[in-house]
Amino acid sequence: MEDAAARLAAVKARIAAAAEAAGRGASDVRLIAISKTFDAAAITPVLAAGHREFGENRVQEAQGKWPALREHFPDLVLHLVGPLQTNKVRAAVGLFDAIHSLDREKLARELAREMTRQKRALSLFVQVNTGAEPQKAGIAPQEAAAFVERCRREHGLKINGLMCIPPFHDDPEPHFEVLRRLGADLGLAALSMGMSGDYEAAIAHGATDVRVGSAIFGARG
Ligand SMILES: *Cc1c(COP(=O)(O)O)cnc(C)c1O
Repeated sequence: MEDAAARLAAVKARIAAAAEAAGRGASDVRLIAISKTFDAAAITPVLAAGHREFGENRVQEAQGKWPALREHFPDLVLHLVGPLQTNKVRAAVGLFDAIHSLDREKLARELAREMTRQKRALSLFVQVNTGAEPQKAGIAPQEAAAFVERCRREHGLKINGLMCIPPFHDDPEPHFEVLRRLGADLGLAALSMGMSGDYEAAIAHGATDVRVGSAIFGARG
């Protein structure tokens, strides 16, 4: 069985090739290794291989494993890619460096307040529901401009980019394209899109942050 460090190297090589094919540099694409459900023993080889960008989808799970890992690897960067409840904002601001799931006004207000209180500036992505799926989090594409503007003007937040999770059964490429256009319209440089099955396509459509879990850590149980 291949180990996680070998799979990481393979994913990095494919990212570099996809970036080059798109006329971009490999360093234009950040690889976020999504370690949800995997414990410290599974994560450590990826850290030992030199990787420093990781993502989790649950605050509580992340709190259970990352503070100890951070003692050994103080330069690691932690991304929250899953939904954030307002009662977890304080913990999330203390632990994470980036949040990819900013999707409502109340959360914007709480994040602004808590970042000020803790004197921490997190990188923020507005999640866009490009598939208009009723059950999925995210701002509707047609409301994204107004939402980003309110985040800036009313809450004083710097928005770094946009994020999407295309519907599971759809061709993801039209969704990546919706996000790319929106980002261009709003002057937002960062695009968080692409997972294990489609990160190369996402890079072709301008992804700057790809979120890759199972292709690095293996299948989740
Ligand atoms: C789990 C998860 C990923 C990674 O999914 P893989 O298919 O394992 O690469 C990416 N983004 C989000 C929001 C996730 O929850």
